[in-house]
This record gives sequence, C-alpha cells and structure tokens, in this order.
Amino acid sequence: MRLEIDTDRVLADLHELAAASGGEHAGAKRLAWSEDWLKAREWLRGKLDELPVTVDRDEAGNIWAELPGGGDGFVIVGSHVDAVPSGGWLDGALGIAAALGALRALAAADEPPPVTVRFVDWADEEGARFGRSLLGSSAVAGTLDPDDVRDLRDAEGTRLQDALASCDIDLDGASGATDRLDGALAYLELHIEQGPVLLDSGRLASAVSGTFGDERYLIQFSGQAAHAGSTPMRLRRDTLAAAATAALAIREVGIRHEGVTTVGSMRSEPGVITAIAGETEMMLDLRHLDADALAAMLRDCLEACEAAAKEFDCTVEARRVFGATPTPFHPDLVQIAREAVAEAGGGDGDPIPSGPLHDATEIGRLVPTVMIFAQSDPPVSHTEVEDSSEDALRVAIAAYGLTVGGALERVSEGELQVAR
Ligand SMILES: [Zn+2]
Repeated sequence: MRLEIDTDRVLADLHELAAASGGEHAGAKRLAWSEDWLKAREWLRGKLDELPVTVDRDEAGNIWAELPGGGDGFVIVGSHVDAVPSGGWLDGALGIAAALGALRALAAADEPPPVTVRFVDWADEEGARFGRSLLGSSAVAGTLDPDDVRDLRDAEGTRLQDALASCDIDLDGASGATDRLDGALAYLELHIEQGPVLLDSGRLASAVSGTFGDERYLIQFSGQAAHAGSTPMRLRRDTLAAAATAALAIREVGIRHEGVTTVGSMRSEPGVITAIAGETEMMLDLRHLDADALAAMLRDCLEACEAAAKEFDCTVEARRVFGATPTPFHPDLVQIAREAVAEAGGGDGDPIPSGPLHDATEIGRLVPTVMIFAQSDPPVSHTEVEDSSEDALRVAIAAYGLTVGGALERVSEGELQVAR
C-alpha cells in the first residue's frame, strides 16, 4: 500500500513541539524523567488523543498507542521524545512527529491497515541524566538489569530508581514490559543522521543498513618515568611514545577494515615537562557493522599496542569496559526503505550504517527492523545548532511513509525473520 504522510503537518508538529520545549534553536528541554519531559509527553498525548487509537504506558515508562488493523501481529512505528540538555530540535522528535504522521494517514484511510500499527515513544533513549542510554527499549528487549542502573545518580545526586519512581515507574517491575514485543512483525524508525556522511555525498536521506557494534577498551602502557635531561634516547622506556605509535597504527586499522577506530584520550604520568612518561592510559573505541570485521579490528589494534610497547621497551595491558554487538537491519526492510527514499526524491544510494546506537539497536535484535536517516546540516547533534534542511526533512518524512506502507504490505503477506 502507498502511504502518503502529510509532511506539512509533520513539520508544523515539529515546530510546535520545539516551541513548547525550549524553542527551536535555543536548546531542547526534554530531559528524561524531568517535569519538562512530562510536559512534552503531555503534548504528545494531546496529539494521540485526536486519533482513533488506544493509548497506554508500559511498566518501563514507554508510551504506546494502538491503531487496530487486520490479521495477526502488529508493526511498530516510533522514536523518542526525550533529549539531551540543550539538545537539538530534531533528535528523536523527527521520528516521533513522522510516526504520528503515519498513524494519522493510516487512520484517515478508507480501510483499516492490513495489520495493526503500534506507535511508541521510548522512555529515556538518551541516557543523558544517568548515563544509561536506551533504558525503555532495553527493558522491552529484556536486556535491562535493574541492579546495574538502580544506584546511578544524576548531577544533583538523585538516584535513577527514585527519578523513575517520581514518574510512577517501579524499576523492578520494568521487565514486565517485555511482552510488548509479543506479535511484533517489524519496527520502523525515522531519525536524523547526526553525522556528516549524507551531507558529504549530497544525499538528503538514506536507508540505514544497521547499527555498529562497539568495543571500548582502556589500554595501559607501563614503562619507566625518568629525567628528561639525563636519559639518552636509546635507554628510555617511554610509554607516551609507545601509545602515540600505537594510536597511529590504530587509525590505519580503521581505514583498512572500513570501520571506525578512535583513540579519544591519552593520559600520562607523571605528566611533567621534564620527565619521560612512565605510565600512559589510552582510551580506545572501535565500531563496525560486521561482527567478524569488528573482531579482526580489535585483534589488529591489540597487536599494534603490543608491537608499540615492545618497540619502546614497555609493557601493555588492555581492559574491556564496554561491548555491543552489531545489529544489522532486516534486508527486505532495508530494500523497501531504499526504494522509498528513491521514490521520495532522495536518490538511489547505498544504505549507510549508523555509528550511534538507537532504540532500533535494542529492538532490531528481536524484531525485523529498519531506520531511515535524514541528512544533518550542519552535520552535528546533541547541540542546539543541530538542524536539517526543509528539503531533507520533506524527503525523509515522505520516504518514511512509503516505508511504513511497504512494510505493512510485506508483513501482511508473511512473517519476516530477524536478520542474524
Ligand atoms: Zn535520538
């Protein structure tokens, strides 16, 4: 079925939400579990109440709205209303407004949709207040352990568990939300890219192939702190030289494997202008869409650290601090989204992977999923200057509607299996 979203209306909603929560480029005020966030959700509730849907909230605080259709199971559309402090007006909000637009178009059609459609506003996607991203979607996906997050505190010292309680959410009951995916046939999300790839290639929108897997390590180089004047070059055990050598090799690893490798920080001790660095700690982040390639990148990076340590007569130890497996999106849905972007005027380019994690990362492991990205211009996010051209927004919203229509048609013909 061909689903045409009223893009004017979606843009009007976006401007309205921005004005109601901080102002368009004044920094979004929608921090999860805050009064501002509840107010933004009230705004959303008002929009949902105009439609023939039933609205409720699950045990993890996600808001759901159901538009009944035929057949078994349902397709999920949605994104997140919450924002980082002083964030942009589009991150999350675009996907919410477009999903709302899709619901509106479906509700206005002569016939009910071929399968039921459920709208979702995920709770606390950003994790900006307590440092735990994807809270609501991970509860639904069954990957949230209350004990891991209970005692996380915000800048004021408030515990996560108490912040949830102030919004009538019992953290220990959040896992009750997992049944929300029973019968889910597909999950479809529109988002801004938040990076420079589409702008660089002059594309207004794109299908997304999946979200990167991520490996984060702290790498400790140990040598010998010594006097910068008395120690000849050949007798040094210089950890900063070793780490810097490794960092350049790590950059090449990312290029070679077509992934991304980042040394975001190096901190040396004693950190004195007249001393050789005896200890250096390096922060390493590696991302790739392919699990085997990610593993190969990790191996190459750790080998580069070993080789550099040896070259400078140092030792090295690596400690893993975070890991996430890649989530490839469903090939059939990616193809539908790709054709939708082309039909909407966004050109027929290869799907691009997402570097940032999204709620679609959590849901995509369990339910056939695809995302569409709108070009970001300037290509930045989590700042009030975040923006997209109106052209890009119109193409992306139209492509999202076509994707929802295409996916509904596809799943009404037979169930998709999750991509592995
Ligand atoms: Zn987002």
